[in-house]
Amino acid sequence: MPIQKSDKKVDINQRRIINGADADVVQLYPMRHKFAWDAYNVGNANHWLPTEISMQKDIEQWKSTTVLSADERQAFETVLGFFTTADSIAANNIVLALYKHITSPECRLYLLRQGYEEAVHTHAYQYIVESLGMDQSKIFNMYREIQAIYDKDNLVLGFNEGIFDPNFKTGTFENDQKFLENIIVFSLIMEGIFFYSSFAVMFGFQRQNKLVGSAEQIQYIMRDESMHLNFGINLVNTIKEEQPELWTPEFQKKMIDLIRRAVVLEYTFAKEVFPKGIFGMNADGFKQYIEHIADRRLARIGLSAQYNSPNPFPWMSEAIDLSKEKNFFETRVTEYKTGGTLNW
Ligand code: FE
Repeated sequence: MPIQKSDKKVDINQRRIINGADADVVQLYPMRHKFAWDAYNVGNANHWLPTEISMQKDIEQWKSTTVLSADERQAFETVLGFFTTADSIAANNIVLALYKHITSPECRLYLLRQGYEEAVHTHAYQYIVESLGMDQSKIFNMYREIQAIYDKDNLVLGFNEGIFDPNFKTGTFENDQKFLENIIVFSLIMEGIFFYSSFAVMFGFQRQNKLVGSAEQIQYIMRDESMHLNFGINLVNTIKEEQPELWTPEFQKKMIDLIRRAVVLEYTFAKEVFPKGIFGMNADGFKQYIEHIADRRLARIGLSAQYNSPNPFPWMSEAIDLSKEKNFFETRVTEYKTGGTLNW
C-alpha cells in the first residue's frame, strides 16, 4: 500500500497493541507501550550465543559409560526431543501470525528480537546434539513418536489455525478474542508451562554437576523465555485495558480450562518421560510443581488460582533468577568478533 501523505502527527492515543493506527512504518515515538521497549533492551543486554559455552566436559561425560545412568541419558534425550520443536513453533507463531496483526511499533520491535532469540535457542539444541554426537534422527523425530511430546505440540499448534489464515483480520469481537487466546496459549502455556518440567530436569543435571555446558545453555534459554513470558503477559494485560469488552466471564473460563488442560499434558509428559523419577523428582513432585507455576501464570493475567499447590522444587526459583553475579561473561569462552578479527 502506498504511504498516505499527511501532515497530521501520530497520536499516541491511537496506538494499540492490535487494531491501532496503521503501522506502515515502525516509528518508536511517541511511545505508548514502554514495556516492549524495556523488554527489547533487556533482551539486548542478555545477548548470548550457544557456541560461547564450552561443551568439553559434557562431551567427556556423554562418552563415558560411568557418569550417566541409562535413565539420565533417556531423560536428557527426550527433553531435547521436546525442546527442538518448541522454540521453532514459537518462532513460527511470531513471524507468521503475531507480527502481522500487532500494530504497536515498539511491540513489533520486541517481536523481532524475540524471533531472533527463538532462533538462538533452536541453534543451542542443534549445538548440543551435534557436540555430543547424539543420534540426530532420533532426537529430531521424537515429537512424532513420543505421545506426550506430540500431545503438547499438537495442543499449541491447534491454536494457530485461524490466525495463520491469510484472510484472518483483527477488528471483530470474535477474531480479537481468538487473537488474545493465541497469545495466552503461546506465552502462558507454551513458554510458561510446557518448558518447565524439562527445565527442572536440566537443572537436576546441573545440580549433580552433570552436563553442565548443556545446562548452562538451557539456563540462558530459561532467562530469555521468562522475558518472553513477561512480554506476553504484558500484551494480554494491555489488550485487556485497551479492549476490556473482550475479557468476558466466558472467555476467562475458557482460558482457565485451557490452562488446566495444559497442566495435565505437562505432568503427563513428566510422568511418562521420567517414569522412575529423576534426581529425586517424582511424578507427584512434577504435578505439584506444574500446578504451582500454572497458578502463578493465571494470577499474572488476573485469573484465580486453581490448585494452591506448594512449590516442591524451591531451587528452581534460584535457577530462574540467574544472578548477574554468576555472570554469563565469566563463563563464556569467546569474544564477539570485531572487524579486525573477522575471517571472511
Ligand atoms: Fe520464547
